[in-house]
Amino acid sequence: MRKPWQEEFTYSVIDLYLFNKGDLNSVSQILPMGLKAFGSELTDYIIKNTIKEANGDFYCGICSKGPFSKKGIKLHLLRVHQKDILEIIDEFVMSRISAIKKSRI
Ligand SMILES: [Zn+2]
Repeated sequence: MRKPWQEEFTYSVIDLYLFNKGDLNSVSQILPMGLKAFGSELTDYIIKNTIKEANGDFYCGICSKGPFSKKGIKLHLLRVHQKDILEIIDEFVMSRISAIKKSRI
C-alpha cells in the first residue's frame, strides 16, 4: 500500500535537513500538484516546528525532549510525533488554502 504523501514528505524533509540526503527539488516532487510550489516553505515550516538545535545537539521542537544525536532526533520524531507532524502539515496546508481563497476575492 502506498504511504500517504505527508508521511513520505516528513521522512524526506528530516533526512534532507539532518543528513543532507536528497535535495529540495526532489523533496518537493513528493507534494501533490497544488502544493509543489510550497515545497521550500513547507520544509522550513516543518523543521522550525520540530527540531531545535543548540551547541551541536538536537532537541525536540514539539515536546522539548533532548539532547539527541541526529539519528536520535529522527527516531524520536518519527516514533513519538508522527501524528503531531501530520497536524503541522495540515495546519500549513489549511493556512495556504485560505490565503489563496482570500487573494481571489
Ligand atoms: Zn518530542
